[in-house]
Amino acid sequence: MEGQMSTFQERLRHLVGIDTGADNPAGRDEAAATIAEWARLIGCTSELVPGQEGMHVVASLEGGGEARIILLCHHDTVFPVGTAAARPFEVREDRAFGPGVADMKGGIVLALMSMAYLSARARPFASLELHSVPDEEPRGVPFATLDRVRGADAALVLECGRENGDVVVGRKVGCWLRMTASGRSAHAGTHPEEGRSAVLALCREVLRCDEMNDLREGLTVVAGTIAGGTSPNVVPDSAEARFDIRAVNSEDRAWAVTEMANHLPYDGVSLAVEQGDAWPGIEPTPAGDTLFSEARRLGLAVGMTVGGQISGGASDGCFTAQAGIPTLDGLGPVGGFDHSPDEYLLLSSVSGRCGVLAGLIESVGRGLLDEGAG
Ligand SMILES: [Zn+2]
Repeated sequence: MEGQMSTFQERLRHLVGIDTGADNPAGRDEAAATIAEWARLIGCTSELVPGQEGMHVVASLEGGGEARIILLCHHDTVFPVGTAAARPFEVREDRAFGPGVADMKGGIVLALMSMAYLSARARPFASLELHSVPDEEPRGVPFATLDRVRGADAALVLECGRENGDVVVGRKVGCWLRMTASGRSAHAGTHPEEGRSAVLALCREVLRCDEMNDLREGLTVVAGTIAGGTSPNVVPDSAEARFDIRAVNSEDRAWAVTEMANHLPYDGVSLAVEQGDAWPGIEPTPAGDTLFSEARRLGLAVGMTVGGQISGGASDGCFTAQAGIPTLDGLGPVGGFDHSPDEYLLLSSVSGRCGVLAGLIESVGRGLLDEGAG
């Protein structure tokens, strides 16, 4: 294990040393080529699939079983060119630091570590496929290679484990919504009574919608922007707010949107809501529950308590889940403070998480999710 840990750290240092933000396509392709090469070294068929945002890595290990299992990663980060030089990879005590160390370069190296372990064993799967995409962070639509994973038996996503060691059993669905109010303008000094304030009506609606938080478990409704009026001396005839809505499942989201549209009456002011971008989540399913219970069991076997939590943030696992593939997320090493200079990865979590991932792959290969199993 010591040798594997030094390989883990060397590789992580290497990947973290390449800037792979949205402004550096060359860096993203360099990282992709590196990952593909490491996969080749453990016996994978490695392919670089070109897409609009650069190379996608697809690396497969063949086995003698029947299941197709996807390990889903992304090699881009949110950090601009120069960050790797300014904040190079560094280890202090049990923590590794550097841009993308947890989100999710540590996850990529962990996926390869599990594949290397399994390559020397029975391989009870038809194929174990590492997919690393170059553009997860800025994208709100499915990744370009989604068609290549359709029909897979499970997708295991290597975003980092939560700070307490939890995996991500679900991700909330979400959407944006615009609410507009139209009233009647009037001189604020001479004839305020003739005006009908759109700002006032909208403010009352924002407060009403705020009361919806947690009316369904996990539901969040946030007014992110509000604007209205033209000048302090005019009763405002228009106002607009934009909301972010997140829910554990799509039924709750639909319910929230309907409730928000069902506004109170305002004399002389009309209101309209319009739903904007919507995105999928990882909604609860029996297969998802089975994957989580198995991760928990495997964790306990190596003395690790693995809890499950629902995240409000999105990942590419939302698209595999939407495609009907049982998906479990947050299987990377434990880490935190993603997207900030304090981002870290807990090195002592690596070997246990590697064991859980390899065990999950073997269990799915041996029929964990087959109809009637369990
Ligand atoms: Zn990520």
